Amino acid sequence: MPRVSGIPCPFCQAPFAPGARRCAACGASLLVAPPSDSQVAVCAIHPEWMSFHACTRCGAFACSECLREGPHGELVCARCHERSPYSPLAWDQRAELGWAKAFWTTCVDVMLRPGATFGRMSPEGSVGSSLFFALLTALAGYFVTTLLYFAVLLVVPYENLASRGLDEPGPGFFRGAVVFFFFLWMVLMPLFSVGITVVASALDHLVLRMAGAPSTFTATLRGHALSQGVYLIGLVPFCGMYVMPFWSAGARVAAYQKLYRVGWGQAAFGALFVPVVTCCLGVGGYAAMMATLMRSP
Ligand SMILES: [Zn+2]
Ligand SMILES: [Zn+2]
Ligand SMILES: [Zn+2]
Repeated sequence: MPRVSGIPCPFCQAPFAPGARRCAACGASLLVAPPSDSQVAVCAIHPEWMSFHACTRCGAFACSECLREGPHGELVCARCHERSPYSPLAWDQRAELGWAKAFWTTCVDVMLRPGATFGRMSPEGSVGSSLFFALLTALAGYFVTTLLYFAVLLVVPYENLASRGLDEPGPGFFRGAVVFFFFLWMVLMPLFSVGITVVASALDHLVLRMAGAPSTFTATLRGHALSQGVYLIGLVPFCGMYVMPFWSAGARVAAYQKLYRVGWGQAAFGALFVPVVTCCLGVGGYAAMMATLMRSP
């Protein structure tokens, strides 16, 4: 939906900002009494003034003073705006909240209230802020499970492993290597995850465009990255990690639907087409490989 920068002043046609009582360009009062003999709509709160626009949420006619701009530039009435004002995403308030709290709050919001969270957020955000969020979600999502997998290697009696090898370097070296590879993995894996996010967002962007959604790469990347807020469930060891892809796919549908104000079908197509095709190709490739291996003597 294109952003509404203002409604044309009835006297000079210069756009005025929702909520203004006077036109900033010509100075005329925007609180205009309706012509007595006409059928023009009047404000639901102030029947003495002409309405300029109906609220896009509740449909009530509103005078210039009662109009407000919604989170996506749509026009809403003051009452609706008060009930559900545009609240910036916690993640966009990193400077005030601190990034840790902003990250945590945003993840919880995305997990528990995806519709409301994406519905109130601005589609605009820097690529850097989206990538930083994706990086943190990968860290949060994989940390505990990876830690436990590596911890198992440390707990397993070294002799069990050594008995199978020939010239083993010793338990100290082995444990050191496990710790080293844990940290290496925890650096490489989030970077890899961020790379995947960028590629997947670019593909989703193309699919959304094909589906007729007014997608931009930065907004799609933002929606994709923020939908990964559900990766916080990865803090629950093992099972959390396997819930993540499905839950985040659902959150991504909600993100695209709210960001672009498109139908659920279009949003689901944009969010799920690429993962489903990738899955099919993966399963198909695996099946073909197995079939080839089985056939060969
Ligand atoms: Zn004017
Ligand atoms: Zn309203
Ligand atoms: Zn009014």
